[in-house]
Amino acid sequence: MDFKEENKTITINGDEIAPEKNKQVRIEIARLPSGTLIDIPVHVFNSKKPGPTVLIQAGLHGDEINGVETLRRLLQDRTFKIQKGAVIVVPILNIFGFIHFSRDVPDGKDVNRSFPGSKSGSLASRIAYHYTTEVLPQVDLAIDLHTGGAKRDNYPQIRYTKDDEASKTLAKAFGAPYFFASRLINGSFRRTMFRMNKPAIVYEAGESMRFDEQSIEISLKGIKNILTKLDILEGKPQRQKSIHLEKTKWIRASKAGMFVPKINNGNKVKKGQVLGMVTDIHVNKNKQVKAPYDGYVFCVNNQAVVNQGDALFHIGS
Ligand SMILES: [Zn+2]
Repeated sequence: MDFKEENKTITINGDEIAPEKNKQVRIEIARLPSGTLIDIPVHVFNSKKPGPTVLIQAGLHGDEINGVETLRRLLQDRTFKIQKGAVIVVPILNIFGFIHFSRDVPDGKDVNRSFPGSKSGSLASRIAYHYTTEVLPQVDLAIDLHTGGAKRDNYPQIRYTKDDEASKTLAKAFGAPYFFASRLINGSFRRTMFRMNKPAIVYEAGESMRFDEQSIEISLKGIKNILTKLDILEGKPQRQKSIHLEKTKWIRASKAGMFVPKINNGNKVKKGQVLGMVTDIHVNKNKQVKAPYDGYVFCVNNQAVVNQGDALFHIGS
């Protein structure tokens, strides 16, 4: 991984943060119907010594709060002192979603499907636009913190971009229990970063609107692992066991009913092993859900009532 060893002034919303300065600034987005200004708080740490600029963000989906808590702890950690380069921390990217306990912005659009955005577009598109133009040109790499959507619980995992070797190196350095390549979704933050030729990894852990202590602790260690690997933080990376998954597959409900998982998330499973049941509430016609191959289950749907085709487990090997 080679990044430019630059010494630079970071400029956000007209605020200049020179080397050796730390500052909290805000990106102005739009006003609510009440007249309240919505802006995104951005914490900038800029070192005297040249080095890469790392962006660490959470809350791109407003209801995915594990990452928000991770970054709160990082910002309140008095030992967090950078030795070189710069770190930009954005604890809540989608402020609108966060206040509404929602993944999206009030018009129902997903900010992570709206990148790179447009200046005069819908709210989601405007957030993406301001962020893409104000922040992204100044960063060299990014760590984006998420949780499973809806009731899906993700076992701590890192996703990287197949055609970007640097993102794979970062994924490995992070040290989450699982890491694998996943496709770039249109309009996603990661795709825009890829197009700008900047590596980005996505950490997925836990479930929306629910704290998961293990997920938070692993991400704090993972972030510090990457920062120490880049010599931005002092010390050595803390080794965390990390399994690379070569192939992944969603296991879906073949019929509707009540879903009862029989295994724990993160478990190693054997081909043919019963992972759960989709039960029939009226007659005794329960459907067993079996593992298609030997592997690891890294996502479990905690939704009790499922429809045909709903994703139940994500498995990889
Ligand atoms: Zn998300």
